[in-house]
Amino acid sequence: MESKESLANKYIIALVPLGIMAAAWAIYRFPTERISLGMLALSFVTIFFSSYLRIQLPRAKTYLTMSDAMIMLSMLIFGGEVAVLLSILETAFNSFSLHRKGVSIRLKTAVTNIVIGAISVFVSIHIVRTFFGSITSVLENGDTSAYVRLLAAMALSLFLSNSIAISAVIAARSKRDFISVWSEICGSSLVLYVSSAVLAGFLAKALYQIDVFVLTVAAGVFALFYFGYRRYIEDMMQSAERAERAERARAEQAENHVAQLKHYIEKLEGSTDALQESHANLRQAAYYDSLTGLPNRNYFLDTLKRILHKSRGGNTCTFAVLFLDLKSFKTINDSLGHSMGDRLIKNVAKRISGTIRSGDMVGRFSGDKFGIILNDLKNKEEATAFTERLARRLAEQYSLEDRQIFTSAKIGIAFGDPKYPQAEDILRDADIAMYYAKGNEEDYVIFDQTMHTRAVTRMRLETDLRLAVERNEFELFYQPIIGLDGASLEGFEALVRWNHPQLGLVNPNEFISIAENTGLIIPMTVQILHSACTQIVRWQKGLHDGKPLSVAVNLSGKHFVHPALVEQIRTVIAETGITPACLKLELTESALMENAEMATEMLKQIKQTGVQISVDDFGTGYSSLSYLHRFPIHTLKVDRSFVSTMEEGSENGEIVRTVIALAKALNLTVVAEGIETIHQFHQLRILGCEYGQGYLFSRPLPVSEITKLLTDRNQWRNILPENDFGAVARNLEFTQLRLPGENRTDVLEIQ
Ligand code: C2E
Ligand code: MG
Ligand code: MG
Repeated sequence: MESKESLANKYIIALVPLGIMAAAWAIYRFPTERISLGMLALSFVTIFFSSYLRIQLPRAKTYLTMSDAMIMLSMLIFGGEVAVLLSILETAFNSFSLHRKGVSIRLKTAVTNIVIGAISVFVSIHIVRTFFGSITSVLENGDTSAYVRLLAAMALSLFLSNSIAISAVIAARSKRDFISVWSEICGSSLVLYVSSAVLAGFLAKALYQIDVFVLTVAAGVFALFYFGYRRYIEDMMQSAERAERAERARAEQAENHVAQLKHYIEKLEGSTDALQESHANLRQAAYYDSLTGLPNRNYFLDTLKRILHKSRGGNTCTFAVLFLDLKSFKTINDSLGHSMGDRLIKNVAKRISGTIRSGDMVGRFSGDKFGIILNDLKNKEEATAFTERLARRLAEQYSLEDRQIFTSAKIGIAFGDPKYPQAEDILRDADIAMYYAKGNEEDYVIFDQTMHTRAVTRMRLETDLRLAVERNEFELFYQPIIGLDGASLEGFEALVRWNHPQLGLVNPNEFISIAENTGLIIPMTVQILHSACTQIVRWQKGLHDGKPLSVAVNLSGKHFVHPALVEQIRTVIAETGITPACLKLELTESALMENAEMATEMLKQIKQTGVQISVDDFGTGYSSLSYLHRFPIHTLKVDRSFVSTMEEGSENGEIVRTVIALAKALNLTVVAEGIETIHQFHQLRILGCEYGQGYLFSRPLPVSEITKLLTDRNQWRNILPENDFGAVARNLEFTQLRLPGENRTDVLEIQ
């Protein structure tokens, strides 16, 4: 396709010879005889000033100037040849002055304007001459109607030749339709040519007749017409410009909008990717364990739900759920560090994954807890055989970073049953069974319904215990501690009972471990300490014999390691006003030894409060004598299991004897628990045991009954033997102790 520019160029090139021809014609035919001052003046004004009075045609970007009127004037007075030359010179000067003013006007444009001007004047002259003969003679004849027709013909012919030529150039340049370009400019152009013709007509007439009046009217009409029209054109231009600006702004706005939309779409596309990625991440996080990559509890339960749903049709059990927990994982984690713990978990996960069959599933719930679903079981034995195999595999040595680690798994098995309402229930039962496996040191335990009942009771107690602490539902029973020598009341052991609103009095064995596991043991013990000390202070005030009354309060191993303990003891002492030495804290041998490392420091701090420490249930746990030697303790309480079966010459008798000897050597006081018979009482006195408690003297009693007891602290005097050889025997025994398993008598040596 031909370019716009080349088409316009061809057109201009075609016009140039015509323009030259017109110019040549004008020069050749120039009426030299008419050269006069008037001609020179008119030429001067036309060339140098007419273009200053110019108007731009709206939209066409074409200027129409006063020069047209001046050209027509010169045509009327001096003939067409002068007009052609003036047109050429005026347009040339006009282009030159525009160029000087800094308007960028190309030579090509200037030439085009000159050529078109010359041709259109040339054409117009010939058209007019065809109809009217010599132009100047029409004016000279004074025939007004012919003069007016001449003017009209001039205006029309000039308008046509000029507008057609210009429209053709514009149309060629802009590749637009010629008619549409021409119709755009023809209106205003016609008006201007007509007005130029009218003006030129008046001026010519006035100049010809030198009529001042006509000249003034012509100038006035021209001024009115010119300025009115100019204003109209300016208004039109301004509104056109405003419309153009508004259109540009709209276009810019639309462009911005499109750019914005693009941006949003890009962002949206980006965020959709991010969304998909985070969706995948969320899925991973929601269904998989990050450490092992195994399915997590959610995924495990979802699978279990599907399996349970599928099994609803039949009666037979074809699947089992295993709940697995590692033994002493916490210790490994604490002692070797969490990264080692994590490695172990990963290894365990690998071993389990390697042991299960395809179609089975393993998931990690949290910490060291795993779940396994065994599918398509032929019988229950298949599940137990698998569990045994798995337990053996997990108990094998783990080599982690050059360290050899051993652990074992405790596994609970719950067999799938279509009667289970929820998948969670099967998992819960496997968990309960695992709990029993742990408690009974078994590798695995199969769930049965009694376990559930017990677990439910336990759970209920757990919930109720929270309320019990809030409502202080604990009641203390007091068991007298008797000085065996004189069978006199020395103090009490405070033993807690839970006054449960529905169950009545609940024994400590049933709820202490729950309180320990839930942490409730601490607020509970603080309440007990407070209440026991207040009680003792009150009883002490009622006694007038001046002998101090002591109270022993049992302290859980969980509480013993609590950092707030010493402060709590101090607060209780301060608030109740108890003499610190009258308060004895009983710690079991195992509680002390489990925390042996820090126990010495803790005990020292407790000792500083003035409170005494007893080792409860002594003999039932494993005691390292070296620790015992270092602990700042005050009393050993011989466990009732030794006392109750203490027969002459029996092993238990020997143990009691040894404990007493040990206590003496360590300079500790001994209290024998569970004295039920006079025989035991006598035996213990002979062995030199200083204190004792048991049903022989009194069961643990509520406060109301103790008040009666306190009226006579020596009420057990009657059980003392008539010939009291106790003291003599004690001395004898102490020097000639016989250690268990040895046939010689010796003085006890402490390691
Ligand atoms: P314990 O501290 O060794 O308390 C002695 C237990 O032996 C008491 O059982 C007492 O009733 C029982 N007893 C005393 N004399 C005899 C007897 O002659 N024959 C028999 N068969 N039993 C006798 P109780 O009160 O059931 O307490 C059991 C255990 O519960 C206590 O053993 C103690 O370890 C724990 N306990 C009791 N009260 C508290 C407490 O306030 N805090 C803590 N942490 N533990 C407590
Ligand atoms: Mg006790
Ligand atoms: Mg005890």
